[in-house]
Amino acid sequence: MHIAEVHAHVLEAPLTQPFHWSFNGTSVRQACIVEIVADDGTVGWGECFGPAALNAAIVRAYRGTLIGRDALASEALWEELYGAYRDQGQKGLAISALSGVDIALWDLKGKHYGAPVHRLMGGPLRASVRAYATGTYRVEHGDPLEYVVDEVAGYAAQGFHAAKVKIGFDVDADLALVRAVRRKLGPRFGLMVDANHGYDVVDAIAFGRGAADLGIGWFEEPVIPEDLDAYVAVRRGQPIPVAGGECEYTRLGFREVFTRAAVDIVQPDTGAAGGLGECRKIADMAAAFGVRYVPHVWGTGIALAAALQLLAVLPHTPRRRTPWEPILEFDRSEHPFRQTVLTTPLEHEGGVVQIPTGPGLGIEIDRGALATHRVSTP
Ligand code: CA
Repeated sequence: MHIAEVHAHVLEAPLTQPFHWSFNGTSVRQACIVEIVADDGTVGWGECFGPAALNAAIVRAYRGTLIGRDALASEALWEELYGAYRDQGQKGLAISALSGVDIALWDLKGKHYGAPVHRLMGGPLRASVRAYATGTYRVEHGDPLEYVVDEVAGYAAQGFHAAKVKIGFDVDADLALVRAVRRKLGPRFGLMVDANHGYDVVDAIAFGRGAADLGIGWFEEPVIPEDLDAYVAVRRGQPIPVAGGECEYTRLGFREVFTRAAVDIVQPDTGAAGGLGECRKIADMAAAFGVRYVPHVWGTGIALAAALQLLAVLPHTPRRRTPWEPILEFDRSEHPFRQTVLTTPLEHEGGVVQIPTGPGLGIEIDRGALATHRVSTP
């Protein structure tokens, strides 16, 4: 089976209401969806995390290397593309584009062998995962002390066991908001916070100490991702477990994160850090370093399906009768085509998501939805 065609679909849809986080915002949702067609007609799907048009441009540049090659040799093709662009492409878009290609090749491989990706990776260790709700973005009008608290209460009512609150704006205001959420939700609901690297070390330590008694599960991206010394300082300076990794790439990038003990919970994005093959390697490294792994997910149902396939094989570290189980990031912010690109949506039931068991990623793509939102295809 050889690769006959590689497409990078750029999808876009406007939001009914723009939203923002600590350092940026958006009025649209975009995606770069990778479609790889084999010469027997089998199709594999992947998704790149990050700026869609830029990812698509790089996927198109990779196309010449991929056409005519063995469609099942995902590792060999990954090594060849990474090696070819290593000098300028160790991190960032070169790797997120490669991630979408790798996910599509794993989907193809699963379809070829008639097995879900998690079977090809030796699993599953679990058939379902608990999901936590990501949301609480800020909007133009209203008081976050009201609408964020209500939003999180809504997630609890839908059966989610935990939710993540966006912070990184102002330490005092962020502490007041998280306190208000905790007061409303009670002591047992899981709460995490995400600063989207809006703080410096001084702010991050002040927030972490101020929130020490609020039962926060993790403190995500407290500081800028390039500065691992700052991560280490935040870990040492305040009591909340530190999470990060959605802006880190490949086993080589994560080697630094692990050897410098920068995080308690690592969050590679499967569509950015290198794809399914690479993220499996990063997950094995995380296990060896005793770091918890919770994939970052902020895309369409394709990205969600890729994360679920990986979640199915994440090892228990340590194994015990009641082990800590990884959880799924379930983005609840507005996304007009998150689920419509799938013929069958990947929904939660009472905060639990089943891992797809069909071949490859275990999903089917709705080409009508792709056509509706497509702004370019080569
Ligand atoms: Ca985040």
